[in-house]
Amino acid sequence: MRVLLMGPPGAGKGTQAEKLVDRFNIPHISTGDMFRSAIKEGTELGKKAKEFMDQGKLVPDEVTIGIVKERLEQSDCEKGFLLDGFPRTTAQAEALDGILAELKIELDAVVDIQVSREKLLERLTGRRVCKDCGSAYHVVFNPSEQDGKCNKCGGELYQRSDDNEETAAKRLDVYTEQTEPLIRYYQDQGKLIEINGDQPMEAVLADVVRLLGRDF
Ligand SMILES: [Zn+2]
Repeated sequence: MRVLLMGPPGAGKGTQAEKLVDRFNIPHISTGDMFRSAIKEGTELGKKAKEFMDQGKLVPDEVTIGIVKERLEQSDCEKGFLLDGFPRTTAQAEALDGILAELKIELDAVVDIQVSREKLLERLTGRRVCKDCGSAYHVVFNPSEQDGKCNKCGGELYQRSDDNEETAAKRLDVYTEQTEPLIRYYQDQGKLIEINGDQPMEAVLADVVRLLGRDF
């Protein structure tokens, strides 16, 4: 099964990805991991990517796409893969279609985990950190026993500035702007599977498995 997994920050994409690769026994291909291993192995493209990253620059599409191609050609991808974090734009999606055509394969499905903005903001702004020992909590998912106080040391909990509502809202806006055309692109190809991500994690996973299983 060849699947692309999409979802906004706070949608729980990482957790779902872990469960899905386990369930379907396919490799998890995330952009971060791919870059790290290309750099570690010192491939030509890995060296190029590192140059850009060392300068604090975005890695250009041609390098990223080359790294994706090298990864998809590896033998563990023969039985399928779960792509995560790539493509992010329609230009990258078109390039990916080019790679897949060369390899004579196709994406089977694009899973989009959809979560209401309200819920995403709640998740993204709910993190609290202890001033004294650095322990992390979440007001919804992992609350401390006593409101505003650390379980371990009794220290005061605070919200980091990058977890505030304004920053979180901006992240979501950037995501929506970037991925809306991409979602339409896969909708037009008839590959999009929309999942209600407002549900608990187990229910989201069950929906994904059921809807993917329908076709495979
Ligand atoms: Zn503490």
